Amino acid sequence: MNELKPNLIGGNWVQGEAIANINPSDQSEVVGYFARASAEDAQTAIAAAKAAFPAWSQSGIMQRHTILRKTADEIMARKDELGALLSREEGKTLAEGIGETVRAAQVFDFFAGEALRLTGQTVPSVRPGIGVEMTREPVGVVGIITPWNFPIAIPAWKIAPALCYGNTVVFKPADLVPGSAWAIVDILHRAGLPDGVLNLVMGKGSVVGQAMVESADMDAISFTGSVGTGGAIARDSAPFMRKLQLEMGGKNPMVILDDADLDVAVDAAVNGAFFSTGQRCTASSRLIVQEGIYDRFVAAAAERLQATQVGHAMDPATHIGPVVDQSQLDQDCRYIETGQSEGARLVWGGNRVQRDTDGFFLTPALFADCTNDMTIAQEEIFGPVAAVIPAKSYDHALDLANDTPFGLSAGICTTSLKHATHFKRNAHAGMVMVNLPTAGVDFHVPFGGRKGSSFGPREQGSYAAEFFTTVKTAYTLA
Ligand code: NAD
Repeated sequence: MNELKPNLIGGNWVQGEAIANINPSDQSEVVGYFARASAEDAQTAIAAAKAAFPAWSQSGIMQRHTILRKTADEIMARKDELGALLSREEGKTLAEGIGETVRAAQVFDFFAGEALRLTGQTVPSVRPGIGVEMTREPVGVVGIITPWNFPIAIPAWKIAPALCYGNTVVFKPADLVPGSAWAIVDILHRAGLPDGVLNLVMGKGSVVGQAMVESADMDAISFTGSVGTGGAIARDSAPFMRKLQLEMGGKNPMVILDDADLDVAVDAAVNGAFFSTGQRCTASSRLIVQEGIYDRFVAAAAERLQATQVGHAMDPATHIGPVVDQSQLDQDCRYIETGQSEGARLVWGGNRVQRDTDGFFLTPALFADCTNDMTIAQEEIFGPVAAVIPAKSYDHALDLANDTPFGLSAGICTTSLKHATHFKRNAHAGMVMVNLPTAGVDFHVPFGGRKGSSFGPREQGSYAAEFFTTVKTAYTLA
């Protein structure tokens, strides 16, 4: 049996009941065993983070820079091994796993630099003889709660800024993917973080996550996950008036106009809708296609899907890995049945398939002739399922694109500058892509959405300071 990987609480490695981390490409493979934290462990971790905060919040920027820099270097040096661990526990392909790991290293590298670039402002007062300084200070104890679909990148883009700006952290990763989370906490711990500055509590959201949300000592929570859980965290946080950053679901539109380059459009749509098994909050799950290109697009996209290989995440021939677990697979299959029963035309895929190993393999499902009010066009499926919706004109396509409770990412494929410019200004989304998939973003610029997708300040890049710091205005009579 693999060694049980413990939680990190107040600088101590703490054991607990074992969680088996199962490979979704091959259920017979246990990736590792991880200690499940209790509600009491979460409370101890919060107390440790609170005790560590005064010293860490006053720590030198060189100390923070060095720890973040060392972490970036170690993740990068171990990218193949950590990328493989990620693929084994989550099911995205090895190339995707390594790519995500590199991105985590880049995020730590970026915030190592940000630690040396902390600035404020000094301005004259409207009252003569008085100076005014505006500075940023850390918020306090930050709870970080993450989903399973980006097991290393999402923890990295929350933990790195939290530590960079002088906060202490209690980190709860998703139950399905403790391996990548444990690896980055181990690296940060060995890089020299003082005890209690970063605490890891693996385990159930309803137990560990809920204990974090219910603690009066939790000054801020940065959460990524489903709309339902985000809403519950917001409600339960209300009595504490804490800072919240909630990144939730998406139903991202990709508009394809008659004047689009067909190859560019098919690339963007297939990548955006189906890579990472469609398990991305930014997935292009609604493909809104103008009538003049509609038939050619559907035929070309179906042809491309026929050539995609669904299989074991570690097989170099695989383009699309398995679904993450049985319950997500059941959910995907239910939505595929609903699509058919509501009258959408299944053009390709949507079949549960067997491979040499016992994994959750599903061929990518492309539905055509959908209407935007169908369930598969309105609800986030979070699997390899996309709905093609016909549009009469650009204006009609834009209306359809915006007709959703979500607002994370929106894309357009067109060769028209006029329509690209209009779409960038009028798409109701936090991120807009022109001739690119709706998924796939840079690490040094803001990430986040509108409407039901996001609540609170943006993540990533220097905008992360909005959430992970609080502003102080100081007046001095000289
Ligand atoms: P989830 O909401 O089920 O879980 C997310 C995290 O919340 C997990 O760590 C879970 O254990 C924890 N949790 C569950 N109940 C809790 C509670 N009562 N209190 C505190 N924490 C609790 O989501 P998931 O299934 O892990 O992830 C899929 C969802 O994440 C999708 O909706 C997807 O769109 C979203 N997502 C959004 C983004 C984004 O940036 N917008 C990125 C990735 C994923």
